[in-house]
Amino acid sequence: MTVRKLRKKQRGPWCSYCEDKTRAVYRGCGFTKFSCSDHLEKLQEADLNMERQEGHLSEADYQTWAKWG
Ligand SMILES: [Zn+2]
Repeated sequence: MTVRKLRKKQRGPWCSYCEDKTRAVYRGCGFTKFSCSDHLEKLQEADLNMERQEGHLSEADYQTWAKWG
């Protein structure tokens, strides 16, 4: 699992780490966490932790993501 940059048409979720609402630029943790460019390191860290714990992306996560399409 990796952190990926959102395509322009995929933008919409907020950064999971900003206190103020900031548009996310990256997504990770199987589509459950997002970050702005300032919080990319935090997202990568969370993504690595999740990868160790689960190691796969669930079907539910895919469905959640599809709603934003
Ligand atoms: Zn942020």
